[in-house]
Amino acid sequence: MEDIVEDFLELVQIDAASGNERGVADAVKAKLEALGLAVEEDDAGASFGGNAGNLLAVLDGGLPGSILLNAHMDRVANGLGIEPQIKDGLIVSDGTTILAADDLSGVAALIDSVRRLQACGQKFPRVEYLFTVGEEAGLLGSKAFDTSRLRAKVGYAFDSPGRLGRVVCAAPGQVSLTVEVAGKAAHAGNCPEEGVNAVTALAKILATIRDGRLDPESTANFAVLDCGTKVTNIVQSYAVCRGEMRSRNDAALSAYVEYFERHCREAASGTGAAVKTTVTPQYESFSFDEDAPVIQAALAALRDMGAEAQVNGGGGGMDANVFNAAGIGVVGVATGYSGNHGISERIVLDDLRRAGELAERIVLSWADMGGLPE
Ligand SMILES: [Zn+2]
Repeated sequence: MEDIVEDFLELVQIDAASGNERGVADAVKAKLEALGLAVEEDDAGASFGGNAGNLLAVLDGGLPGSILLNAHMDRVANGLGIEPQIKDGLIVSDGTTILAADDLSGVAALIDSVRRLQACGQKFPRVEYLFTVGEEAGLLGSKAFDTSRLRAKVGYAFDSPGRLGRVVCAAPGQVSLTVEVAGKAAHAGNCPEEGVNAVTALAKILATIRDGRLDPESTANFAVLDCGTKVTNIVQSYAVCRGEMRSRNDAALSAYVEYFERHCREAASGTGAAVKTTVTPQYESFSFDEDAPVIQAALAALRDMGAEAQVNGGGGGMDANVFNAAGIGVVGVATGYSGNHGISERIVLDDLRRAGELAERIVLSWADMGGLPE
């Protein structure tokens, strides 16, 4: 079995979650150190109650310029006790858990690229390997990472769904949206006319708000409802709903935020309830043209491998959003997984086998293209 497949199978069987990456981080560190790399761990975990930090390791290839290769070590819930199986050209779980190919396939690909670059016999730019924690909990590890430690101005996040060959050139920005409604409590049987029902006022707001797919680049979702009590004999004085809006178009994002605030006020007017909205930016969008060098280097690598390339935008945020906001041009690279975040998650075995080679060839294609921005 290839090293990359072995590493992948080993890593997914180490229990982990966002904030509980210790076992995976120790295994990744040991593998990199066995390859002769020095690994530094930061204290990002402490910023969100986690037990591991981001890992940074550098591989010097003798050419000027640096390139960032990134993957995350955490996974979404239902990722304990994973029993991976190879079946019909795929790796799947036993059907009761996720597979955690998101993103241990990326982690395994990056480790494999170290082995390959060390053996390639060519000079290449300096590679900064960054393995993050807390990605699935809101990009917490990358947000806590001190990007001034990086020299790279371009990079690749090996963390996108789709077949090997897909390059994600754009990802949405996201804001968290909260609407709180304050009414007035009263006994529901004795004097309901003295109360103002926050629940029905909130229902009015939600019944008429534009959500779901807003346009080809934008979505909104209101998902969490709460009013603090569980009794029916009081006219409810408080209700809250939390949601999110994402868009690859920054103008659409600000327009929706304005609409959200106005709609909440207007829909509840006449109910007597007071409305408070809170908008919290989570991360910024990014977008690259297909002729951007960061995309062209990936396309050249895919051409060398005879893999079919596909460049398009994604619907999720990732560590790349954080790096782009910090001025490092990072795009997403697919490793062959699909159905991530659910029990049907799978990865195409042949794609995984070649994901390390793709990382290697991307680095080498920068050398062919005449170097990297310093
Ligand atoms: Zn991921």
